Amino acid sequence: MRYISTRGEAPALSFEEVVLTGMASDGGLYVPETIPTLSQAELEAMAGLSYAEIAFRVMKPFVGGEIDDATFQHLVEDAYATFSHEAVVPLNQLSSNHFLLELFHGPTLAFKDVALQLLGRILDHFLAKRGERAVIMGATSGDTGSAAIEGCRHCDNLDIFILHPHNRVSEVQRRQMTSVLADNVFNIAIEGDFDDAQAMVKASFADQGFLNGTRLVAVNSINWARIMAQVVYYVASAVALGAPRREVSFCVPSANFGNVFAGYVAHRMGLPVKQFVVATNANDILHRTLADNDFSKQALKATLAPSMDIVVSSNFERLLFEAYDRDGDAVRDLLERFQHEPAVLAEAPLARLREKFVSHSVDDDTILEVIRDAHGRTKEVLDPHTATGYRAAERVRADISTPMITLATAHPAKFADAVIKAGFESVPLPAHMTDLLEREERYTVLPAELEAVQAFVAEQRR
Ligand SMILES: *Cc1c(COP(=O)(O)O)cnc(C)c1O
Repeated sequence: MRYISTRGEAPALSFEEVVLTGMASDGGLYVPETIPTLSQAELEAMAGLSYAEIAFRVMKPFVGGEIDDATFQHLVEDAYATFSHEAVVPLNQLSSNHFLLELFHGPTLAFKDVALQLLGRILDHFLAKRGERAVIMGATSGDTGSAAIEGCRHCDNLDIFILHPHNRVSEVQRRQMTSVLADNVFNIAIEGDFDDAQAMVKASFADQGFLNGTRLVAVNSINWARIMAQVVYYVASAVALGAPRREVSFCVPSANFGNVFAGYVAHRMGLPVKQFVVATNANDILHRTLADNDFSKQALKATLAPSMDIVVSSNFERLLFEAYDRDGDAVRDLLERFQHEPAVLAEAPLARLREKFVSHSVDDDTILEVIRDAHGRTKEVLDPHTATGYRAAERVRADISTPMITLATAHPAKFADAVIKAGFESVPLPAHMTDLLEREERYTVLPAELEAVQAFVAEQRR
């Protein structure tokens, strides 16, 4: 399997290269040269299989033989054995024909574990094969760093450095990162804010001289392997509800669009999907684009669903590439314009998107109302991200006869502040995490200075 850039100029890469590379050299994102298909019979044969077995079958064509089957099967089984639910991603019926797909049973209680548990293992496999080591750097405002750390903690050939703003991360979220005491995990508390941390990570990727030739790898959602891993749960949940003979719809709390793009890939592979509902918080660029053709940046708003606080949706470019019939020049023109001024999509691509995608934006007051309302009706406590999805699904679904699967992207205990604000007394952590607040922590406080951070990384990496 070859991978090509959405901007049409970077060289085509193999799966191994694309996993190690991240962003394409022309500024674009890598996508498969052709999207593989699953036949009706192949989908039917998945009914009743374990999640790991479905995962192996769905992802195999993307790996394209670059990892032998037995090894890949082992990596997949190992990745999903870390989940605390036997079904890995169980479906929970909320009301007539509305289901929650619980993606939060991984080590850090949010859906990013699904992709990062596997990505860490795939990276480690390729690095071992090449006899190389790599460094991962990332910045987090608290919610997503732990998933990257948990995904890499057992990787012999990776050292991971995650920067978070000192004293500006909730205790649960900090401890989810700092209580991982593995030798290859380095938490850096920056004396500054998230933007300072993010800027230093970006600068380190732009000029990697401080690592003396060691590869720096990005594990953010532009990495193709993350999309690939997320395709699986769309297939698995739809099959559980009767696909391919029965069509389903999905509602996805969205920010960088990696998650819902994976659903689109599942559909293109042959999964019958009637509708994708894109739910946003008040940072609504996706909703403005799909509903009003207003493809423009707006100032960042801090919301109760912080993992969806974005200005630009990085992975939307991958969908634009498909909407523009894989015309890399058109995508590059559009995105270059968008960098500097409000842009609009051309008529035909927009019409194509609207055939499958609808959207809805949910503000903070509504998130609180939805958490209360959903609990009243279903006894489920939703996390604030899932709440945007629940509301969007109910508001804009095309019909009631098609099963709607809303993706539950986080466990409510991970975002307890919002749930308490909605009127709940407390949200207990799941049983295997009740001792989190007593666990030993390890982190290093550093000033918000690039030289200090880079010197620390260069010195500590193994
Ligand atoms: C990352 C995240 C999202 C947004 O996912 P995208 O792939 O960026 O669209 C939604 N909810 C939670 C809890 C997240 O961590």
